Amino acid sequence: MTSSSDSLTVPVDLGPRSYDIAIVSGELSSVAKSIETWATKTTDTPSRTALIISDANVSDRYAAPVADSLTQVGWTVETAVLKAGEQSKCQQVVSELYDRLVAMQADRRTIVIAVGGGVVGDISGFVAASYARGIPFVQVPTTLLAQVDSSVGGKVGINHPRGKNLIGAFHQPLGVFIDTATLESLPERDYRSGMAEVVKYGVILDEEFFTYLQAHQDGVNNRDADVLRHVVARCCQLKADVVEQDEYERTGVRAVLNYGHTFAHAFETLSGYGELMHGEAVGIGMIYASRLAERHGLIDASVTERQVALFATLGIPTALPESINLSTNDILDRMKLDKKAIAGRLRFVLPTKIGHVALYDDVPVEDVRAVLDVLG
Ligand code: NAD
Repeated sequence: MTSSSDSLTVPVDLGPRSYDIAIVSGELSSVAKSIETWATKTTDTPSRTALIISDANVSDRYAAPVADSLTQVGWTVETAVLKAGEQSKCQQVVSELYDRLVAMQADRRTIVIAVGGGVVGDISGFVAASYARGIPFVQVPTTLLAQVDSSVGGKVGINHPRGKNLIGAFHQPLGVFIDTATLESLPERDYRSGMAEVVKYGVILDEEFFTYLQAHQDGVNNRDADVLRHVVARCCQLKADVVEQDEYERTGVRAVLNYGHTFAHAFETLSGYGELMHGEAVGIGMIYASRLAERHGLIDASVTERQVALFATLGIPTALPESINLSTNDILDRMKLDKKAIAGRLRFVLPTKIGHVALYDDVPVEDVRAVLDVLG
């Protein structure tokens, strides 16, 4: 990682698909400088044409300054504004975006720029991966979840009516430009939900970072710019390290990122999508997984208590709300259907200490049942 006084750069080393993540605070209006540099990586003669894709909640505030920054240095820019929300991640919207690119006479040098949360990033990346067999794209993520997770690693895609993220590709961006000042307008619940993913990085990979979050809880809660730059950069670095070892999710290394997810997916599906935010489900799932690790003899209760305590100071839920009442049998059945389960055997990423997790596929169902019964 390199840094100047108020900007940090995290390089993602993927051979010919390597790119930089720039992390700044309050510098969206100078994004063109970074994009111009990145554009020259693809060709000596960049077309200086871009389609910005954004959503209705963020377009005026954040896509417009990106467009202005580029037009001021001579780029031709169009902006497509999607309806905000998960329902935009669908084939119909992909088709409309292809139409926009065709109408612009986009070629392989045209750049797609995603300005928004994970929904905008995922669909924009998918459009870029498939149009003309792949055109360059840049991510300008504006939610905490997108800044620390979805914009890094090259997984792009859309939903099928029968399954989330079923259609997709690996398509690495040309670069990721993260302005933490965009988080100032993020609703409290989205912010705290994204923060659960931040804590996850500490638990799975980096005890020092976990301790940093404990020590800087005020800065985190007040969205302090210096703290946020450090937090976002550290998460990007940790995710980049994992992605570099397992770019296409083939070796299992990338699976460590799924801590809390076996429980979370079951909670999200059974409670009806939208009841729990993804990060909230992951946070609660982490606590269940940690209790499971205790039963499995991997850790003692203090490791779980540290996570519960940090979540509490950061306003992240650690148990399902009373309004969501799920049966243990339904949760277990759901887990067996999870795409990460193999032949009905349950797989869990479990902590062995703060800062380290491992994958277990030998956890007895009775232990899972016991944890669900005690905490549920
Ligand atoms: P989102 O994109 O729907 O954004 C959440 C809400 O916040 C939206 O209403 C959006 O308009 C609004 N918003 C965005 N930035 C804002 C800002 N700065 N101020 C105010 N409002 C703002 O959702 P998300 O939580 O960012 O991402 C969720 C999506 O990410 C899911 O579709 C999930 O599948 C995907 N995801 C992808 C990966 C990956 O590796 N590709 C990883 C994790 C999640």
